[in-house]
Amino acid sequence: PTARIGFIGIGTMGLPMALNVLRAGYPLTVFDLSEAALAEAQTAGAKRAATIAELVRQSDVVITMLPDAPDVEATALGPDGIEANAPSGLIYVDMSTIDPVTSRRVGARLAARGIRMIDSPVARGVENARAGTLALMIGGDLAVFQEVEPLLRRMADTITHCGELGNGTAMKLVNNFLSAGIVSAIAEAMTIGLKAGLPLDLMVKISGGTGTNNAWLHKLMPGKAFLGDFSPGFMSRLARKDQRLATKLAEQIGVPLTLGTAVLALLDETTEQFPRDDFTSILRLVSERAGV
Ligand code: NAD
Repeated sequence: PTARIGFIGIGTMGLPMALNVLRAGYPLTVFDLSEAALAEAQTAGAKRAATIAELVRQSDVVITMLPDAPDVEATALGPDGIEANAPSGLIYVDMSTIDPVTSRRVGARLAARGIRMIDSPVARGVENARAGTLALMIGGDLAVFQEVEPLLRRMADTITHCGELGNGTAMKLVNNFLSAGIVSAIAEAMTIGLKAGLPLDLMVKISGGTGTNNAWLHKLMPGKAFLGDFSPGFMSRLARKDQRLATKLAEQIGVPLTLGTAVLALLDETTEQFPRDDFTSILRLVSERAGV
């Protein structure tokens, strides 16, 4: 491949994703605030840029994999950023989990300068990032997506185009909202059961009707959270960030929430106590509070 790729944000997820791009033969330039991450990428064969501006000027496609919406906004629209330095024809792919309102605002500003943007947040975890088996939810112009699809296929084995710019991000927030809500419901339901005297294995067997779900069967049971293993996985602080983004989106577009607000409060407390543990630590929080 000849398209020159600039990758900004080579952290837990970004580094293994960028290395898959490099292995596929794309010329790759990276930028991050972390010297350690830059050194590792350089050792693997990537070129490192001293500034975002320098990276952008020598790229055909720029990818960001940054923590949160303000990081994306600053990188895209800041004086040293994409808008101010893009060569003509640049495609910008934001793979961070942010909110659709920010994605659309950034995209509109870039479009005014002829820069084409798609949002492509990722599902699944670090192991999948390494194996190139992430799942992507894409928002934005179909033709732009198709232009970068071969590149994205180096990082993901499941790709779904979800509609206009921002829709990938909205889809991602809906997914994570569901996941956090289900884990919270399991934590409280099973804690009630345990304290009322029901054995766990009986609850697993009997609550197999409409209450059965993937989190119950795979994330919490068997052999993970219910056995006291809270290693990440998906860290509490990231789950809290995504729940905050989803509840903020609901507020912005006029969806009154009850459950979402309660789950955010649970994740706030879980993050305070177990910031770097898996978000299924909600179970630990709920059961410890109940003295179970
Ligand atoms: P991370 O914190 O490990 O990595 C982010 C990287 O961005 C860091 O290396 C940091 O130094 C760099 N960075 C921060 N601000 C920067 C800036 N202004 N300029 C340049 N670099 C900057 O986070 P992560 O786990 O890789 O997650 C990245 C995104 O992907 C987040 O939005 C997260 O919610 C999402 N995500 C994470 C997972 C996961 O399992 N970790 C899964 C799916 C999606």
